[in-house]
Amino acid sequence: MNQNHYDVVICGAGIAGLTLARKLKQKIPNLAIAILDRLTRPLPEVTLKVGEATTELGAYYLTEVLELEEYLENRHLRKLGLRLFFGDTNGDFQNRPEAGVSKFLPPYAYSIDRDIFENDLRQLRDFQEINASKIYCKP
Ligand SMILES: Cc1cc2nc3c(=O)[nH]c(=O)nc-3n(C[C@H](O)[C@H](O)[C@H](O)COP(=O)(O)OP(=O)(O)OC[C@H]3O[C@@H](n4cnc5c(N)ncnc54)[C@H](O)[C@@H]3O)c2cc1C
Repeated sequence: MNQNHYDVVICGAGIAGLTLARKLKQKIPNLAIAILDRLTRPLPEVTLKVGEATTELGAYYLTEVLELEEYLENRHLRKLGLRLFFGDTNGDFQNRPEAGVSKFLPPYAYSIDRDIFENDLRQLRDFQEINASKIYCKP
């Protein structure tokens, strides 16, 4: 990849920027992509970012469109869809009545560890990373 020329520059190496890079590379494999971010990567594998509970629709995008099903199955947790909890909010959580399915039903949703997910997407090498701590990415 010519490091002085990029066809696409994405500002922000969060889940949106990283998945956009993957999607663009799927469509146009020769595309030279740079992602600018002010954070130094890789992220430490601690909860710097909140966990991500996908909806089934979001999971469909990740598994089918971005072709990450095998990866998600191996590295993240399946989730039992939308769950509703009733009863006394001051009582013990595990004792509260709960409504939801009791077995995993396709299409699966996932609980994703964001730090691991974003670090792993970086390993796919769909793009060149540029630390933008000294560059101002104007929103
Ligand atoms: C408490 C909480 C719980 C949530 N739970 C869920 C959930 O369960 N399920 C769900 O789907 N969503 C959830 N969300 C929402 C979800 O986290 C966001 O929608 C998602 O992180 C947005 O991704 P993003 O890539 O757009 O932004 P981010 O992940 O914030 O990434 C943006 C990146 O851009 C970089 N950046 C920003 N500005 C600049 C700049 N000027 N120059 C250079 N780099 C820059 C940042 O460093 C960062 O790396 C939750 C959010 C919060 C706060």
